[in-house]
Amino acid sequence: MKFFMANWKMHKTVQEALEFLKDFIPSVQGISDREIGIAPAFVCIDSMSKALRDTDIKVGAQNVFYENKGAYTGEVSPVMLKDLNIDYVIIGHSERRKYFHETDEIINLKIKATMSENLNVIFCIGETLEERESEKTFDVLKKQIEKGLENIEKYDSLVLAYEPVWAIGTGKVASELQIEEAHAFIKNRLKDIYSDKADRIRILYGGSVSPENIHSIMNIANVDGVLVGGASLDPEKFLKIIKYEERK
Ligand code: PEP
Repeated sequence: MKFFMANWKMHKTVQEALEFLKDFIPSVQGISDREIGIAPAFVCIDSMSKALRDTDIKVGAQNVFYENKGAYTGEVSPVMLKDLNIDYVIIGHSERRKYFHETDEIINLKIKATMSENLNVIFCIGETLEERESEKTFDVLKKQIEKGLENIEKYDSLVLAYEPVWAIGTGKVASELQIEEAHAFIKNRLKDIYSDKADRIRILYGGSVSPENIHSIMNIANVDGVLVGGASLDPEKFLKIIKYEERK
């Protein structure tokens, strides 16, 4: 099923998040042919999870730690997230890699710990502008996939998100060819690891997705949905993205 996931990053208080849902929940009622999710800040998860209990809208977290308890000041564990009835955890987002120095090894530990609690993972990968310009894109993607997914067998709980770093929050969308090439490459690397079962792993695109460009992005081969930052903060824009066929 096509997947439309909002990453709210460090935006919206609990009150603002619930305000968003007031407009948003009725507008997506009855949509059953695609999966919709929102990853708010940690502090909003409990209220959002309760507010969305009787809907099909999924709740996600934007990060997690790889231990379940202990002296790790400021961290949140997979068990704690599971307790809040969430469905997804975004792991390896480029902002986590850049500002919080998350390595492929740390990301691998986080994926394992999250899957151990039977939560689904949205595993983000993508190259920087410098890496693309020096023609290292495919080497970077290969390394991120191989290291991030080392010894991970639960492909059923896995979603990949290809997010070229230079396209996140910049208004610069990757070209159709760049997205098509990257998604085909990712699919092939997943096949190297999971053989035919790789077809069950959805690959999302992320990076300046908007109501204006969503239609062409969703028509690219091997694009199974999108991870949306900025445009998902506005219920109308996110809805236009979800109902992309209505805007040709
Ligand atoms: C993201 O944060 O995952 C993202 C894709 O952000 P934006 O849509 O704002 O580029």
